[in-house]
Amino acid sequence: MLKGKVALVTGSTSGIGLGIARALAAEGADIALNGFGDAGEVEKLRAGIASQYKVRAAHIPADVGHPQETIAMVERAIGEFGHVDILVNNAGIQHVAKVQDFPPEQWERIIAINLSAAFYATRAALPGMLARNWGRIINIASTHGLVASAEKSAYVAAKHGIVGFTKSVALETARTGVTCNAICPGWVLTPLVQKQIDVRMQNDRLSLDEAKRALLGEKTPSLEFVTPEELGGLAVFLCSDAAAQMRGVPVAMDGGWTAQ
Ligand code: NAD
Repeated sequence: MLKGKVALVTGSTSGIGLGIARALAAEGADIALNGFGDAGEVEKLRAGIASQYKVRAAHIPADVGHPQETIAMVERAIGEFGHVDILVNNAGIQHVAKVQDFPPEQWERIIAINLSAAFYATRAALPGMLARNWGRIINIASTHGLVASAEKSAYVAAKHGIVGFTKSVALETARTGVTCNAICPGWVLTPLVQKQIDVRMQNDRLSLDEAKRALLGEKTPSLEFVTPEELGGLAVFLCSDAAAQMRGVPVAMDGGWTAQ
């Protein structure tokens, strides 16, 4: 379905971004990966995607917490592949602390990576999409783009912000072939969440399974994690013709979290 399209997925060396990159590659899209990691491991991921799905794949290193690097990443993807048709703004980090204890540098970094990076990447990629009158911008928000949790003020602010940004971009592109939507996952068992499970194990003296159950039990009616593969399926749908009139929608995939 996506043969001839090029997808740039930020933060795709791990977790949700990697799941989405694989799902788009499985539909034939060429893939620009981005994200941190050991150079050998990242090269294995890149080469694995290229050979498994018979697509072109590149890794473009950039710290999307820095605007100039984000802009250069988009320009390099356009330089290497000729165009970027699908932009998935996925890179994200978390820090958990009460607001009065929240380190200001963590606040700045979370807003930079989880929110401002989507602005800079979209600003750089959108003109080419508009020129070809086809594009898909998918922002990976969170249930925390729709509802809040305590001790996650920066993350919740950034994720609510990216849902608002998604709506604005969708309105500005509404009469074009470019759409912009957000995906709002519930808990996904990735390194970002494993860190929070580790803290619970330590603080509450729980086993790994007990900590996972406690985490899910607080918010998730299904008591199941969402998987990167399921989120990849949703991203593929948002890239399909059937989703052409989905514009500015924050789509939750969260085991019932926000239905409560
Ligand atoms: P992860 O830690 O597994 O992966 C994060 C990816 O982003 C990695 O590839 C990492 O190298 C990259 N990254 C981090 N900082 C970066 C930077 N400054 N520049 C470039 N790349 C950077 O995390 P994940 O759980 O897959 O999270 C991906 C996105 O999904 C994030 O935006 C996160 O907020 C969101 N999300 C995660 C969950 C969850 O439960 N895991 C739930 C909802 C939303």
